[in-house]
Amino acid sequence: QELIKRLEETIENIPDFPIPGIQFKDISPIFLDPKLYEDVIADLVKFSKGKVDAVCGIESRGYLFGIAIAVALEVPFVLIRKSGKLPPPVISEKYDLEYGSAVIETREGQIKPGQRVLIHDDLLATGGTTEAAAKLVEKQGATVAQFSFLIGLKGLNGEEKLKKFNAEVYHILEY
Ligand code: 5GP
Repeated sequence: QELIKRLEETIENIPDFPIPGIQFKDISPIFLDPKLYEDVIADLVKFSKGKVDAVCGIESRGYLFGIAIAVALEVPFVLIRKSGKLPPPVISEKYDLEYGSAVIETREGQIKPGQRVLIHDDLLATGGTTEAAAKLVEKQGATVAQFSFLIGLKGLNGEEKLKKFNAEVYHILEY
């Protein structure tokens, strides 16, 4: 409760970015406050402790917290990136955006069959990115055990899209 309040006071709401009508949540002020960052990590670690064998972070804000979560849990951290950034061999997944589509990738073999995986990103909106990440994990014979986010946006049906993975979903705060 106290953590939620501190985050609400810290995260900046930027109107009309990156396009008119969008309220962008800027998480970067969290990194100006090391104690707050530490408490955010501790909260996310508590959610996943003992429940996952690997953490996947989604480019790029998912890395800022994901790697710290993985180190604290003492499990591997695997990058999920926009296409064309990771060297081969990679596994790819295409997904639809509001206009057009995008592809995300991960290095083949870094996620192991049978692993219980946490997928982490800073923010859940429509769930399109996270859903594609979950498909990448399943393609490699692993299971998505958990999803975690700092922020969940209400009214965009993101959580609805993740239901089919039968995984736990957690966000620290909601807008
Ligand atoms: P989705 O695929 O769920 O619609 O979008 C989530 C992705 O977009 C995440 O990778 C997230 O980082 C990014 N994103 C969308 N809107 C925002 C926002 O307002 N603030 C931040 N920090 N990231 C956003």
